[in-house]
Amino acid sequence: MDLTLLEQTLAELGQPAYRNRQVGRWAAQGAACFEDMTDLPRDLRLTLTERVPFSTLTVDGEARSRDGTVKTLFRTHDGRPVEAVLMRYRDGRRSLCLSSQSGCPLTCTFCATGQMKFGRNLSASEIVDQALHFRRMSELDHAVFMGMGEPMMNLDSVLGACERLPDLGITHRRTAISTVGWIPGIERLAQERMPVRLALSLHAADPALRSELMPVNDRYPLADVLAACRDHYEHKRRQVFVEYVMLAGVNDSHGQAVKLAEALDPRVFKVNLIPYNPTGSAYRGSSPKAIGAFQDELERRGVSATVRLTRGQDIDAACGQLAARAA
Ligand code: SAH
Repeated sequence: MDLTLLEQTLAELGQPAYRNRQVGRWAAQGAACFEDMTDLPRDLRLTLTERVPFSTLTVDGEARSRDGTVKTLFRTHDGRPVEAVLMRYRDGRRSLCLSSQSGCPLTCTFCATGQMKFGRNLSASEIVDQALHFRRMSELDHAVFMGMGEPMMNLDSVLGACERLPDLGITHRRTAISTVGWIPGIERLAQERMPVRLALSLHAADPALRSELMPVNDRYPLADVLAACRDHYEHKRRQVFVEYVMLAGVNDSHGQAVKLAEALDPRVFKVNLIPYNPTGSAYRGSSPKAIGAFQDELERRGVSATVRLTRGQDIDAACGQLAARAA
């Protein structure tokens, strides 16, 4: 919901200031429309329904996976596609994967979003409205900015959305912002008071290979990015999660595991190995055996490493697959 419009409208109608909070609370608890807000005067509910769109996004499609994952394609008022995903895990965790931009200006070669046209930054309301959509379906407890876009290139809106997620049940500590290594954003997040987690998409410790996979590495070289992450750790005392997508014959060798372990201070970093999801690119995912061997080598060298559970693969909702086809 566009909160500025809501506030303006309530003020024009001569409503007391607490109405804003009242509406916000209902929405955060999963109300589907103003009509549901039973402690608002009936006339007011009708007027708000006429004057304030309940969401800044419209739903353009939804897919449900066998594993309980739901992927929704939204449109902004100017027709931009945005996708977000609700993941439900066996341990009961309900995690949202949120988008910060429509499309992405960075062109990581293995990522479906990176191959689509960049649209624009999303507003804080457009980000929160993704979360509110899923809040109407389910309780929520975690959120990751790992959908479309580079959150650090739109940090004002992303932080604005983070401010509001606790009302929906998602605490700052259970919120993670993932970046390609956009240094100005990492530096700013280090100064931020909200204790949100930082995640770094690393993918290759070797500079030439990293630049090949992620052209942004030419602008912000890995050594500088790791230094910024270390600084972030010094300020926030929270480990940085490294994401490493496992590409067969590209970045999954024993030697590359050794290089990665050498690059990472185990106090600061924890590695999450991501099985590659097909996107129509030329890459193939590493075998479970190769992923296991890579993980063992990191662990042997004192770097803690886990393998990410893949969700929603059957509906193209898994990591790196968000790219609205109609875009
Ligand atoms: N731009 C940010 C936020 C997007 S996060 C970032 O890159 O960190 C998306 C995560 O999914 C990144 O770690 C990315 O490397 C990973 N990813 C992209 N394509 C993938 C694919 N096809 N399979 C598995 N992971 C992928």
